Amino acid sequence: MYLCGMAQILDGKAVSSFFKQQIATEVKEMVASGHRAPHLVAILVGSDGGSKTYVGAKEKACVEVGFAGTILHFDESISEEELLKEVHRINLDSSIDGLIVQLPLPKHINENKITQAILPEKDVDGFHDINMGKLTKGDYSGYISATPLGITMLLKYYHIETSGKHAVVIGRSNIVGRPMSILLSDSSETGNATVTLCHSRTQNLKELVAQADIVIAAIGKPGFVTGDMIKPGAIVIDVGTTRIDDSSKKAGWRLAGDVDFTSSELKSSFITPVPGGVGPMTITGLLFNTLKSRKRQIA
Ligand code: NAP
Repeated sequence: MYLCGMAQILDGKAVSSFFKQQIATEVKEMVASGHRAPHLVAILVGSDGGSKTYVGAKEKACVEVGFAGTILHFDESISEEELLKEVHRINLDSSIDGLIVQLPLPKHINENKITQAILPEKDVDGFHDINMGKLTKGDYSGYISATPLGITMLLKYYHIETSGKHAVVIGRSNIVGRPMSILLSDSSETGNATVTLCHSRTQNLKELVAQADIVIAAIGKPGFVTGDMIKPGAIVIDVGTTRIDDSSKKAGWRLAGDVDFTSSELKSSFITPVPGGVGPMTITGLLFNTLKSRKRQIA
């Protein structure tokens, strides 16, 4: 029986370190047997502070596990054509295993056009139609979007049973909510759940969340899910990361999740914090995909 107030923190930072050590060991073995280490390239356009931070964190993680990590930083004024040329150049470069383009891009660049120009074999963010299509069919030979992949790694690590559970995913974006709903409903180790996918037009959201054994919140609205909405003992995964003003912080802001942690911690059995929950697992998912790409070339 579940006892209120006993939530276990799903420590994404610690689990991410665990998986990063495993990846680092594989890289060492790869290099020792004469192969080069995996190489991830990140394209950054413009000077958005959030994007710079995310790309910087990905580069740091590459260094930690022994990958080569390159950031290609372009001015905001780069044309769509020039950016496409860069993508094509990297597609042809056999010394690069993975390419990610940090979103959002400036308004004059069609994000979908850029995302679809990346070779599916190097699309370690899993945004290409081929990778999304494979995921939809339960074919895991492609790349799964890094955030949902990271969440499944976290669920596996803590031996959280998803089979037969009712999972409510809030948010239907192509990079988080939709792929997460597909993974949870698939007949796989972290699947076999009955999934309800909610969005801004869902009318009885509170009613649905109250029935959920697993709640995944990926909305971008700080504190949207509160403890009173949650079924006692539910597993709560908070994907949200919104920067909100906080004068007590050196940066003047802090990250806020979509879940009100204080009230939800008292009702749930497992819960992810923000920061330190899904964020580090997303980076681990990306590293995992890049290693997978490199291993494919060697095989
Ligand atoms: P997004 O593309 O803006 O999608 C948000 C989704 O939330 C949409 O499907 C939207 O519904 C839904 N939504 C908005 N208001 C709602 C409401 N009142 N009730 C129900 N659904 C509502 O966002 P995203 O890219 O998925 O990101 C979501 C959050 O996760 C953001 O805070 C983002 O920063 C964060 N994130 C974190 C990580 C990480 O590594 N931790 C990675 C990716 C994203 P409609 O489709 O109807 O508009």
